[in-house]
Amino acid sequence: MAILDRYALFGHPVAHSRSPWLHARFAELTGEGLSYEARDVPPGDFDQALAEFLHGGGKGLNITVPHKLAAYAAVDELTERARRAGAVNTIAVTPGGLLGDNTDGAGLLRDLEHNLGLALHGMRILLVGAGGAARGALGPLLDAGPAELLIANRHADKARALAADFAGAGPVSGGGLEAAHGPFALVVNATSASLHDEVPALPGDAVDPGTFCYDMAYGSGPTAFMRWAADRGAAGTADGIGMLVEQAAESFALWRGVRPPTAQALAELKRQAGA
Ligand code: NDP
Repeated sequence: MAILDRYALFGHPVAHSRSPWLHARFAELTGEGLSYEARDVPPGDFDQALAEFLHGGGKGLNITVPHKLAAYAAVDELTERARRAGAVNTIAVTPGGLLGDNTDGAGLLRDLEHNLGLALHGMRILLVGAGGAARGALGPLLDAGPAELLIANRHADKARALAADFAGAGPVSGGGLEAAHGPFALVVNATSASLHDEVPALPGDAVDPGTFCYDMAYGSGPTAFMRWAADRGAAGTADGIGMLVEQAAESFALWRGVRPPTAQALAELKRQAGA
């Protein structure tokens, strides 16, 4: 029997991750032979787990919370988008060493533009949150050519610092949640508030009937932010399942040189989530 190329997800916790299902489905859909497992790697154990994985012949990794910065430090080479994001969510084992990439932002853009049909060019966009996911999204969002991008965060200083880091990449500014006055064509929630069934304390006019509202978080059914936006008559809402699928497809393409078709896997995952 042929030995399959080995891939894995390192994170903590990983028990509920959909990545093993997604990559197995991508392998079926593309005819690629590979194995993929989720491995619970406690904080502080990343370097040792990486060494063991490589010793065992592993070909590539996905990395999630809390190891994206450790992965950034561990690789030999970074893609430009990983360098901009300041974090690594994908490692490919190459003849030249470990290549670190970040596919989160590209996954978000692909979901917004391709799956949801939004044209970001010329939009006034609000990005809520200033953590790792917001940083990863910022470069690709600015590359799409918005008229204006405002970052709003509970701790306003973090939003201002993030905006300053990307000042050369487009019309971006940062501030507190209370200052995020609409109208916005697109609001992207990159906070973890929905994971606790909470909604960021945005002003009432941040969302109106012309606003599409996207939550990077996902679960079973609409998130707290999606429900809040729908109550305000938002033009449309979406959760982050599409981003999850698209960032996984980007990783798969980096590893295997073939981009899996995502529409079918996304539809199946949504059915599983009861969406
Ligand atoms: P971080 O911990 O790095 O950042 C959390 C952010 O959320 C901070 O800006 C924090 O604000 C803000 N926040 C948390 N709770 C609240 C609240 N109650 N009200 C307002 N702001 C709040 O997390 P990440 O950036 O890694 O992840 C953010 C979200 O993105 C998560 O829901 C995660 O699941 C999702 N995600 C989805 C992906 C996908 O593929 N769909 C990929 C990656 C992430 P402050 O700085 O003021 O504390």
